[in-house]
Amino acid sequence: MARLSQTKPPPDAEARRAATPVAVYDVHRLPAYDKAFFDNARADMTRIGETIVPPREGRAFDVPAGRFFRIVSVEGPQVGDLNLWNAANLAERFFSGKTRALHATHVSTGDRLWSTFPYLRPMATITHDTLDWYGFDAEGAGVHDVIGTRCDPYTNRLLAGADYHHCCHSNLARALSARLKLPLDAAEPHVHDVLNVFMSTGFTRDEHRYFMKASPVRPGDFIEFFAEIDLIGALSACPGGDCSASHSSDAATCHPLKVEVYRPRPETLRDWRSPPVNAYAGERGE
Ligand SMILES: [Zn+2]
Repeated sequence: MARLSQTKPPPDAEARRAATPVAVYDVHRLPAYDKAFFDNARADMTRIGETIVPPREGRAFDVPAGRFFRIVSVEGPQVGDLNLWNAANLAERFFSGKTRALHATHVSTGDRLWSTFPYLRPMATITHDTLDWYGFDAEGAGVHDVIGTRCDPYTNRLLAGADYHHCCHSNLARALSARLKLPLDAAEPHVHDVLNVFMSTGFTRDEHRYFMKASPVRPGDFIEFFAEIDLIGALSACPGGDCSASHSSDAATCHPLKVEVYRPRPETLRDWRSPPVNAYAGERGE
């Protein structure tokens, strides 16, 4: 759909367009990624948990603060949709929009997954990404986006006029419902915009429309996170499979995903503490 343009450009249109872009956020005050700390902690880890997420399904998993977790490609190219909650407080959950604004449209090693207001702190830090070689391709696509939301039955109903019950939104809702023993309609409102793990996406050059293309992920690839606080995670193995053609249906070939949880040696975390919630005291603090 081309954008309607009914207005004649003003005489100084080009001058207005020539304004210099400025980064919206100056992130230099954020603590730098502590590569030495993470390299030391992840050098000798013990696997303490494993969850298989079946194709077109979701599963929840727990990661205590100070542990690592990996989302691993197994069997074939597959995209995953990730949600994160503070295990002690579901109101604190992953904030995809602010993560995008602070870091970029796609995230990789060194980036943090931030939580919602009024907490706004790192929930997890990305510590390894075997797809970090991909960068941004000729079409502007990158991997692991925080620009999409998640495939869902409502948009599908709107656009396809059909009902499909294995969209990532529904898979995540069922996974959280099972983990917390909550009725499905009580769990669903906690589902939020995701990190699209392994998904290759971008915006078209001409109209800036959201596009996807075949994920470059292959079995053995993984993205690894350090849990900064006690987490409940949920992961959906997207019905779009590698998201090369379609989603929200049974058309695509799908594969499972694996979540692995690792414990580093305790002495590597001796001086480490969970980040406190955001220091802004708001109007309460006046
Ligand atoms: Zn999906």
